[in-house]
Amino acid sequence: MSALSAENLSVRHGLLEAVRGMTFSISKGETLALVGANGAGKTTLLRALAGAHPAATGRIALDGQDVTGLSVHQRVRRGIALVPEGRRMFTSMTVAENLKLGAMAARPGDWSIDRVIEIFPNLKKRLDHKTGHLSGGEQQATAIGRALMSNPDVLLLDEVSLGLSPLVVDRVYESLSGLIRSGTTIILVEQDLARAMSVADRVICMLEGRAVLEGSAKELSREQVTDAYFGLHRANSGKAH
Ligand code: ATP
Repeated sequence: MSALSAENLSVRHGLLEAVRGMTFSISKGETLALVGANGAGKTTLLRALAGAHPAATGRIALDGQDVTGLSVHQRVRRGIALVPEGRRMFTSMTVAENLKLGAMAARPGDWSIDRVIEIFPNLKKRLDHKTGHLSGGEQQATAIGRALMSNPDVLLLDEVSLGLSPLVVDRVYESLSGLIRSGTTIILVEQDLARAMSVADRVICMLEGRAVLEGSAKELSREQVTDAYFGLHRANSGKAH
């Protein structure tokens, strides 16, 4: 059974249909990258999966259970955690306090502050620092750590590299590969195609709210994904929609 699935999911911002009838699923332990140009609907899709934005039509299921009508908090308790674009930290709280907030969903699991520090060792010396005083990379690590502390079955990551220097992005992704190897189910939105394709098992390319290309990251060529990204469809390009 898939860990998370969406069936004919549409999401609106007023009159604008930002996500248009998307159907896809992710298996347990899989990493799925959502790529696409600015405004393609990736953030809106991720927010709808997390319950931060309502679905206009369609169905979202976690482990086969319909969660479409549930709030963000209810979904966190069921096992969906979102790391939003821009990190959204409680900047007057310390790193440790932010991490403990993530544990408030009280889901059973192995995540602890010690384990977050194993993945992000740079946070060790920062536990008692207010997150507002941290570097962008440390804030991103705290935001991911906070989500992990809820012991999610599915982790949704929105543009973790946004606003970070290339060196820091490398470090965040090194840590993420540890997570990926540990079997965490991840859907990530990433602008950097090369990076997305190097960490993901599968890639979905979105264009104007629709999935226009879906396939295994190993089997799709960079050219196929770039073409789908810009709306230039070719024959034989993965599983085109
Ligand atoms: P980006 O990479 O720029 O974040 P994206 O693929 O994540 O792009 P979305 O942010 O989901 O795309 O935006 C999809 C569409 O919805 C765009 O046309 C955008 O202008 C619109 N949109 C997004 N958020 C809102 C909002 N709060 N109100 C109105 N329209 C919105």
